[in-house]
Amino acid sequence: MNDAPDHLPDPMEARMRFIYTLRSRGVTDTRVLQAMERIDRSAFLTGIFQERAYEDTPLPIACGQTISQPSVVALMTEALDVGPRDKVLEVGTGSGYQAAILSQLARRVYTVERHRALARQAQGVFDALGLANITAIVGDGSFGLPDQAPFDRIIVTAAAEDPPGPLLAQLKIGGIMVVPVGQSDTVQNLIRVHRLEDGFEYEELRAVRFVPLVEGLG
Ligand code: SAM
Repeated sequence: MNDAPDHLPDPMEARMRFIYTLRSRGVTDTRVLQAMERIDRSAFLTGIFQERAYEDTPLPIACGQTISQPSVVALMTEALDVGPRDKVLEVGTGSGYQAAILSQLARRVYTVERHRALARQAQGVFDALGLANITAIVGDGSFGLPDQAPFDRIIVTAAAEDPPGPLLAQLKIGGIMVVPVGQSDTVQNLIRVHRLEDGFEYEELRAVRFVPLVEGLG
């Protein structure tokens, strides 16, 4: 029996539809779909937006920022091809949702956010959910995290004009970085960078739209 009040969507049904939507948007990696099924997106939202957690849309969070569209989170995670031994850096913690998805696939996740309030709030959610392999750090993520480098995988969830040099330098040989590239107020391109023995290989994946990567702390 479903005890949810009539005006609220049935959570089980909403979650099933959510996974169906992700599949229909081209997400095929079973491990990514399982991670998206396990992590409750509503835990990363507040107030009236919690009810809309399973809509495939970006939603507002604190500090004038957004939680990304779930299908974009899933497709970026799929493109990152994370393995269970990987150490991952995320730039742009925001709500912490993307980092939580990564935590299901990787050994260790470091996520950097320029707004202290967001980093603190996200760390609180990770702790409440028992996601012990993620650490949220306040900083300007365009400089990466030299203390923890090099990384097997790097994901940037804000748009840069070019892949930031310090992040390229902190990627292991054989590593992968996924980053939206382009001017902030236009459509950007999601780029996948492979670090090879003797340089970098760049691949354009799809059009996306992200808030800009901003210098300094918020
Ligand atoms: N990954 C997030 C999630 O799962 O909710 C969504 C990220 S939101 C689209 C972009 C985030 O990048 C914002 O929280 C913004 O404050 C942050 N940001 C922008 N420039 C940054 C920088 N230089 N260093 C760290 N974070 C930055």
